Amino acid sequence: MAILGTDIAQAKQLLEQGKLVAIPTETVYGLAGNALNPDAVLSIFETKARPSFDPLIVHTDSIEKIERWVKEFPAPLKTLAQAVWPGPLTILLPKKEMIPDIVTSGLDTVGIRIPNHPLTLSLLQSLDFPLAAPSANPFGYISPTQAAHVDQQLGEFIPYILDGGVCQVGIESTIVAWENNQLHVLRLGGLSMEVIENLSQQKVALSLNQSSNPQAPGMLKSHYAPRKPLYIGNLEKLFQQHSGKRIGVLSFQHSLPDASIQRVLSTLGDTHEASKNLFRFLRELDQSDAEVLITEFVPEFDLGRAINDRLRRAAHSE
Ligand code: AMP
Ligand code: MG
Repeated sequence: MAILGTDIAQAKQLLEQGKLVAIPTETVYGLAGNALNPDAVLSIFETKARPSFDPLIVHTDSIEKIERWVKEFPAPLKTLAQAVWPGPLTILLPKKEMIPDIVTSGLDTVGIRIPNHPLTLSLLQSLDFPLAAPSANPFGYISPTQAAHVDQQLGEFIPYILDGGVCQVGIESTIVAWENNQLHVLRLGGLSMEVIENLSQQKVALSLNQSSNPQAPGMLKSHYAPRKPLYIGNLEKLFQQHSGKRIGVLSFQHSLPDASIQRVLSTLGDTHEASKNLFRFLRELDQSDAEVLITEFVPEFDLGRAINDRLRRAAHSE
């Protein structure tokens, strides 16, 4: 098991030695290493069993630092970043050579963001290199939203987990790029399309399958998945169809009267509360004695779109 704590100096020292540290963010916990050190980055891929074609997001604490590592920062993206950061928004920018190819899986753009968590921001301020940090879970499984989740699955492989409590947003960042004079959302996430359109004062294109690397697993059909079979649809019907089995239910707002193993994402019907609870509840149901899991789509607005995207991939079996 890893050591859990809030010692930034210890985290800094380990990272400077090329070791990995799990870090809290407002989205999910990250498995962090020095993004400028290819050996540290390689050990991130190995620890997660993540395929090398899946690029990592790089984290730092200021736009001034970012400008050292990228060739340009288009004005519309910078304006959006200034309004949102620190926050759940990742921006793709053309990278300079000092960002190793292993970080971006050979792509010439790098995904960068400034995360919103006080512990991690202090850590980043103390470092003169950025941190590459994918979610701190085995590849393809449900993302971790508290330190104990990281410890359960990766604790034996990492020396230190910076414990920053429960992630307040609970799903990964929204990824945007600037192409053909337009903002494109490449992955739905913790910042809604509505907020991005309001802040940028322009219509945003949803280009979920147009990543420069269409194989990138944030875009894969099956991801964020529990080990147990998960079905998505009308809860009453699914409950009927699986009668005779122990069923774990993940519902949006209302509970199912006959279900004994059950989690409700937000009794108030709030998509932000639902996103904060999503991965923890999926994990708890996966660890319960249910044999199958059933869930339903949430309303397709605000963070509901990103939640539905995660549910769709979590339920996909191939
Ligand atoms: P995460 O799993 O939250 O660390 O996010 C990593 C995901 O971000 C990848 O699976 C890609 O979908 C996306 N991503 C990161 N960097 C790039 C990039 N340079 N170009 C396109 N997509 C990227
Ligand atoms: Mg991930």
